[in-house]
Amino acid sequence: MKNQIVGTIMCFSLIFSTIHPLSATEGMWIPSMIKKMVAGDMNAMGMKISADDLYSINQSCIKDAVVHFNGGCTSVLVSDKGLLLTNHHCGYSRIQAHSSLENNYLKDGFWASGLDKELSNPGMNASIIKEIRDVTDAILGELPENATEAERAALVKIKSAELVESAIDGTHYQAYIRPFYFGNQYLIFITEVFEDVRLVGAPPSSIGKYGYDTDNWVWPRHTGDFSVFRIYANKDNKPAEYSEENVPFKPAYHLPVSLEGVDENDFTIVYGFPGRTDNYITSNEVNDVLTKTNPMRLQMREASLGVIDAAMRKDELTKIQYAAKQSRISNAYKKWIGQSKGLIRHEAVSKKDSIERVFQERVNAKPEWSDAYGGVLLDISALDTKTQHHSMSRNFFIEFFYMGPEVLRFAGGFSELVELSKNKEVADEEIDKWVANKLSKMGYFKNYDAQVDEDIMKAQINYFIEGQPLAIFTKDMRKKNEDLAGFTDRLYAESMFVSEVSIRSFLEGYSRNKYKKIEKDMGYMFSKNISSHYMDVTRPALMEFAPTQDSLMRVWMAAQMEVIPEKTYYPDANGTLRITFGKVEGYPPFDAAEYAHFTTLEGVMEKEDPTNPEYNLPPKMRELYNAKDYGQYAHETGEMRVCFIASNHTSGGNSGSPVINAKGELIGLNFDRTWESTMSDIMFNSSICRNISIDIRYVLFIMDKFAGADHLVKEMDLVSAAK
Ligand code: ASP
Repeated sequence: MKNQIVGTIMCFSLIFSTIHPLSATEGMWIPSMIKKMVAGDMNAMGMKISADDLYSINQSCIKDAVVHFNGGCTSVLVSDKGLLLTNHHCGYSRIQAHSSLENNYLKDGFWASGLDKELSNPGMNASIIKEIRDVTDAILGELPENATEAERAALVKIKSAELVESAIDGTHYQAYIRPFYFGNQYLIFITEVFEDVRLVGAPPSSIGKYGYDTDNWVWPRHTGDFSVFRIYANKDNKPAEYSEENVPFKPAYHLPVSLEGVDENDFTIVYGFPGRTDNYITSNEVNDVLTKTNPMRLQMREASLGVIDAAMRKDELTKIQYAAKQSRISNAYKKWIGQSKGLIRHEAVSKKDSIERVFQERVNAKPEWSDAYGGVLLDISALDTKTQHHSMSRNFFIEFFYMGPEVLRFAGGFSELVELSKNKEVADEEIDKWVANKLSKMGYFKNYDAQVDEDIMKAQINYFIEGQPLAIFTKDMRKKNEDLAGFTDRLYAESMFVSEVSIRSFLEGYSRNKYKKIEKDMGYMFSKNISSHYMDVTRPALMEFAPTQDSLMRVWMAAQMEVIPEKTYYPDANGTLRITFGKVEGYPPFDAAEYAHFTTLEGVMEKEDPTNPEYNLPPKMRELYNAKDYGQYAHETGEMRVCFIASNHTSGGNSGSPVINAKGELIGLNFDRTWESTMSDIMFNSSICRNISIDIRYVLFIMDKFAGADHLVKEMDLVSAAK
């Protein structure tokens, strides 16, 4: 295998330059490479701006306005005062953090009337890409012909660290390197990261989440999914921690905002940071997603959502406390249901299998390929079989430990204190500092309800232990003949980590020998047993196979590109900046139906139902609708357009991405995909996969006419339809 891997790297750039996309709208392209790879196709589809307008390091351009929003979403700069638009669901946890029963911004919305009213968000960041450079040769150029996978990984690590250091030397920038095409290519991203990002405005959830879970991932859609933030910088326009002295950031570029709207077949770009796709996994792996991974995740989340949803329905405070958590859990839950349905309906397994057969036939017919790639698919499949148990253990661990009962994470966080306390070389002052810091973070309990947490554990624990070593997880804890419900009852009754009062008083009276009390706490023990099993057994087992897996996937990727050059190849999403292009278009979702490409305020009103919290609009919306008071934001037909769909290939992380027209103007904010598109992280089908965006004119209408925040609209450069 060794020589094959190196050989693959060597010929990769050759393969790379011969790729031509077939399915016009499939692909998430690296901005610095669109000139070489797809700018011609984009122009042919109607783009009027140049590749340099989208990405350049010599002039300010659109990329300077596209901002990675706290690492998980995208946002866009729309004024020369750092005004930032993103989705409501991206700003949700921040809006939630500022909300209380007295000032319920989730429920009532929030609009800062001036700069001094904008709310700071400690811990948040907004990052702008300064430059993207291909560093493949710099990293792999000196790789010896016969290097092992471990030697390769070591070289990548060393070279990457050197390259990052020299790229940012003498600047205030940051940088990271990411592998593309499974490590056949490496790019460095140089970034400017801002830490003072303030909340400026958000509509009430009855607009920003209109349709809630029922409409999530669904078309036709009527959600006003946007929120408004602002980046602040120091007096030199450089990133700085929050300070009253900071001033609004002056970006190198901000997007003009179009009032023209969209028509069917209009060209669109989505520019943002898609998080993760698996478009090149094998047919066997797709089958595993369908028969193992997705069913298991759905089961776990169904259990926790059953508890959370019921608790939120019962109590207004719980509704605030669990709003962001519920959204986080239910969003992927619903996506996975749609994903499985779509993959089955569109026969993803057999389609992938057909491609693999073509691949194998061609490979077998050519000795040179047969030597290099003949066994790659079988090897991947054998490895999947070997790692399956551990992969499932990891999935269970993630679902239970990270998405399930919070006591596990909270109590687990005290292992640091135990270690510090046990270590004689650690001074008492250091321990005091740790304790004081923890005491300052008791805000955690603002959004915690021990009963809800206990019910979540009870609902999930039986699934979690399926096929897992229960005796190890409950070692020294479970009483003879105690069932898991009784065990859970006792854990929540005894653990100090489920009560702010208990943990506060414990910490306030802490001295180093009290670590034994932590070690004996049931919440802590359960957490520790589970995480230790993951760290000591599951993770090492997966790590052992990781090098083989990396090399197989790298070979598989390069091999496909070489053997089936007529297919489209773009790098899987990995949280880095991408451009996708497509057209505004409807689609036939199922037999006898055809979806239009836009929705209107009329449709918002059709769904309105004051008895249903998911569709309970603020009365002012009906007043505006009755008066048809849409101002300059109405479509040329006189109606108020709300959302539209297009055939851009997007993923999670593209939430909040600017949707840009052929002239380079902002026409919307991407926020979702349709039900039939949720499969696109694994298989994109341009005839049915559609991304959903909020029409930018609806954003402006809500700001101006609904919220009276026209001062924000005035900050933007509006481009009218007449121009
Ligand atoms: N709504 C999605 C998200 O939660 C966006 C997408 O996946 O298309 O990230």
